[in-house]
Amino acid sequence: MIAPALPPQLHVFVRDWLSSNNIVLKGGDGAVVIDSGYVRHVPLTLALLASRQGLDGAPLAKLVNTHCHSDHMGGNAAIARAYGCPIALPASEAPLIEAWDTKTLLLDYADQYADRFVVDETLDAGATYVWGDLEWQALAAPGHDMAALVFYNPEHRILISGDALWRNGYGFVMPPEIDPDAMPATRATLEMLSTLDVRVVIPGHGDSFTDVEPALERAFKRLTAFEADSQRMARHALKVLLTFALLDRRQMRLADLPAYVDRVPIYRDFNARFFGLAPSELATTLVGELERVGAVRRSGDFLTPG
Ligand SMILES: [Zn+2]
Repeated sequence: MIAPALPPQLHVFVRDWLSSNNIVLKGGDGAVVIDSGYVRHVPLTLALLASRQGLDGAPLAKLVNTHCHSDHMGGNAAIARAYGCPIALPASEAPLIEAWDTKTLLLDYADQYADRFVVDETLDAGATYVWGDLEWQALAAPGHDMAALVFYNPEHRILISGDALWRNGYGFVMPPEIDPDAMPATRATLEMLSTLDVRVVIPGHGDSFTDVEPALERAFKRLTAFEADSQRMARHALKVLLTFALLDRRQMRLADLPAYVDRVPIYRDFNARFFGLAPSELATTLVGELERVGAVRRSGDFLTPG
């Protein structure tokens, strides 16, 4: 696939599923970086930002987050330290960060981590910001994260979508039993995105893409399937989290997984609420389903990313 054309002052470092993409916008008012990756990848993130395609020695005027999940804000503290820049994030995330609410932020609650940092500025849905000499409308995109924003540039018809829309789906959404507002919000967000005139989506994970309509169709289809089945949503969330843990640790001992899903609170809470399985049964179910789609592999006594 040929990378879609983007304005020259905009560069996307495409990362993986452990770290979100990093978007660099260079402009007359200084450079802005959107999303900072996962804490384990901080050395790589700093190296990319220092590189020629990154800031190349220029100062950083601002670090922005689309939302406050560990894979988007894990490098915040290190980047703010390295560049002495302010951090701006969605206004509704600010109280969670200020309180360091690690349950709502899905940090230790989900066996994910980030270094604590200070919020310097908040971003409001409906406001327009100039980053990289381009105007970006901040639009509320609740669902996967109820406080998330996306950023839309009408001139070049670019959407920075975070985890609200990927080429294949979107970030996992909490089942209605956990947050009754999350699924309706996801649908409303996809409907809002459908009304935008978008040429290129720069997602939080994966390459930028121009086939926006099929991506929206896939997202709606997935949403409809999940709306009918809370247990499936809950299983999907745990599979996403287990895959993330595996990418973080590189491997996990199969024999340790029952204790792991019994110890990490979100697995324990979801198991009690949705499945009522013995920890070993839950581990076997999750691993089996991930193996079938090639997301994980067994090698000897260990589970590794697929
Ligand atoms: Zn996310």
